[in-house]
Amino acid sequence: MRSEARASAITGGPFDLIVVGGGIAGSAAALRAAQYEHIRTLWIRGDRATRKRSRSQWVVNIDNMIGLHHGVVRGKLVRALKGEEFAAAREALRQGHEHISTRDIVRNTIERLQSSYSEQVVMVDVVAQSARGTEDGLVVVTPEGEVGAPWLLLATGVTDRQPTIRKRQGDQILEELRWIFPFANRETVLYCIRCEGHMTRETATAVIGHSDTAAQIAMMLYERYGSACSLLTNGEPPAWSERSGRLLEQYSIAVHTERIVEAMGTKGDLHGLVLEGGRTISVRMALVALGLHRVYNDLARDLGAELADAELPEGERHVLIDWKGETSVRGLFAIGDMVKRRDGEPVMKQVYTAQEYAVRAIDSIDRRMRSARRSKLLGDN
Ligand SMILES: Cc1cc2nc3c(=O)[nH]c(=O)nc-3n(C[C@H](O)[C@H](O)[C@H](O)COP(=O)(O)OP(=O)(O)OC[C@H]3O[C@@H](n4cnc5c(N)ncnc54)[C@H](O)[C@@H]3O)c2cc1C
Repeated sequence: MRSEARASAITGGPFDLIVVGGGIAGSAAALRAAQYEHIRTLWIRGDRATRKRSRSQWVVNIDNMIGLHHGVVRGKLVRALKGEEFAAAREALRQGHEHISTRDIVRNTIERLQSSYSEQVVMVDVVAQSARGTEDGLVVVTPEGEVGAPWLLLATGVTDRQPTIRKRQGDQILEELRWIFPFANRETVLYCIRCEGHMTRETATAVIGHSDTAAQIAMMLYERYGSACSLLTNGEPPAWSERSGRLLEQYSIAVHTERIVEAMGTKGDLHGLVLEGGRTISVRMALVALGLHRVYNDLARDLGAELADAELPEGERHVLIDWKGETSVRGLFAIGDMVKRRDGEPVMKQVYTAQEYAVRAIDSIDRRMRSARRSKLLGDN
């Protein structure tokens, strides 16, 4: 789908709010702002490169939210398709499973904004390269020009660390991430225990990781679904606690420390993981538990916003927010996977959490804008 990615859009202000990030969090914020009607918003959705590395493109089957399920619409369609001539269509609907992906949700939100709120929201498909504060507000720099607004909301997400597979091709050994992607796209390689763990039920599953978190995830899969059968550290020394080690033994979860040299399977169906030395671990699923590769906090850093976890490299630190989603910089909000709460309250990396914080942030901006308007009307100081 093409949105209005034009240089003129960047200069089509003035805007009250700039939203950066075209995933679940950014789209929820753009829609909420539009629905309040008086907030004029520029939504900077990113470009091909930022999309490729984002979760907005690769979550293919959202399967843990009530209501967001194909069964809701299927029931209505089956009832609407009355009569003998639609018997085959009804049966196909009953048999099929239409996945709902993050892409579907974002696309639908764009369509709604284009059809009902084109006056309130301007969309541009460019990258926000940097940001700075001025006397009048916050300015974002893009390849198509600079744009400023009193309020800026960041929703630029994170990416997961991927396992490298050291595969022989001819007489070369290629150490790459890409061997895993066909399986990730088919959801036989998973990343999120809260979202996808239930899909491993009674299925032989390997956890890939070497930290205590990886060991905990393997144990959880075993305890909840009877699924984890092995923990593959992919050449790294195990870094879990002695207690976790004892529990892994109790649960008969095998630990393999050799490098992975091949993911076996066709068209994304996983059949096994081959280790250096030739042993094959027969699994139908794997869950990658390597933590985050990157938190896209660059714009927040430009603006001097406070970050979490000082011991981590800058590119892996979440942006700290309060309960409304506001950062330490007044007028700068951040939501979605890229944030942590300043008060230590957990923020789940989930679609519904991103949506809730979008509402909290936009409500706060809306309230302050209306309050300033009232003060102006009454001539308050
Ligand atoms: C495999 C997997 C399965 C999941 N399944 C579920 C599930 O079933 N249920 C659930 O609730 N959650 C699930 N999640 C979690 C959920 O997908 C995330 O919480 C959610 O997508 C986060 O949205 P976001 O908007 O914060 O980030 P993203 O979706 O990553 O979006 C980031 C956006 O920012 C843009 N961007 C980045 N940098 C810039 C820049 N400089 N300028 C402009 N734009 C930029 C990108 O293009 C992208 O559009 C899953 C996650 C994974 C990894």
